[in-house]
Amino acid sequence: MKRAEFDVIIVGAGPAGLTAGIYVARAGLNAVLYEKLSPGGQAATTDLVENYPGFDRGISGLELMEKMESQARRFGLRIEFKPVDRVYSSDGLHFVRTADGEDNSARAVIVATGAEPNPLGVPGEDALRGRGVSYCATCDGPLYRSGKVAVVGGGDSAVGEAIFLTRFASKVYLVHRRHQLRATKSLQDKALSNDKVEFIWDSVVTRIEGEDSVNSISIRNVRSAKERKLKVDGVFIYVGRKPNSAILDTEVRSDQKGYIITNEHMETSVKGLFAAGDVRSKLLYQIATAVGDGATAAYAVEKSIAG
Ligand code: NAP
Repeated sequence: MKRAEFDVIIVGAGPAGLTAGIYVARAGLNAVLYEKLSPGGQAATTDLVENYPGFDRGISGLELMEKMESQARRFGLRIEFKPVDRVYSSDGLHFVRTADGEDNSARAVIVATGAEPNPLGVPGEDALRGRGVSYCATCDGPLYRSGKVAVVGGGDSAVGEAIFLTRFASKVYLVHRRHQLRATKSLQDKALSNDKVEFIWDSVVTRIEGEDSVNSISIRNVRSAKERKLKVDGVFIYVGRKPNSAILDTEVRSDQKGYIITNEHMETSVKGLFAAGDVRSKLLYQIATAVGDGATAAYAVEKSIAG
């Protein structure tokens, strides 16, 4: 049997992966963390994180994630910026293939690849992506100074980012398919009392229009079936997420939506394969719970390696 090069490979540098990295590096394990883009994951694109304990006035998602990264590096965690194509298991070892063709093995792998935004799936969305269609208000919001934008969705992301966008835009339409928001009450209250936010209830976007960039969206009221056009310069889509679990080339138990099922030690149905954070099937998808997942997975790996 081939010898494992690493004790543990972590995939993904969001809150779960970086926390796992802090723990395994402190424990002196031979570890590497692969991240495809930049550290921080979805959390880094959140304008203000108000519910992560320890920051009584809130903290920007980017700053929080930069702190986690520098903490992990301080303990000597090796972080490499390489996309991972495939995670698979053979002969009791686990392999991680990176886009440059390297196949590295480890005694354990922690998959902390998070989730990514769902597309809305309407005409115009793909063609105008990056030209008015966005999935990241923190990244693109400042482009809409004094403009009019629409946000689609009714969850924490949609409502939180609609509030953020009022810093730049003169008007933010929040288009939601029901008359009740899914977002937490505190976010709802903030949005409902913000004069710049106009709620368009019981409505779905049927088309995004524009030549070079977005100039309007068509919306249909699902109760009256009436269609109308709304002039906007940008549209931000926050209609839920899907797990980034496609790299797993091993039969792992997952739920109907593809989120990986683990036990309370973050172990998947395959021995030595762990999952942590938003890629995992669980009740609450938050930075606080991702951090807990990462710490638990790292500790479980440490125990399993010690035998
Ligand atoms: P979410 O909670 O799943 O909300 C998705 C929203 O999109 C729902 O309002 C849903 O409508 C709507 N939607 C889904 N498919 C749609 C479609 N095809 N057309 C129109 N609308 C559609 O997703 P999320 O807001 O991204 O949040 C994901 C997780 O991250 C949640 O657990 C959330 O609590 C967490 N999160 C937390 C924070 C925070 O604490 N500050 C910030 C961001 C995210 P319905 O309501 O009708 O289903």
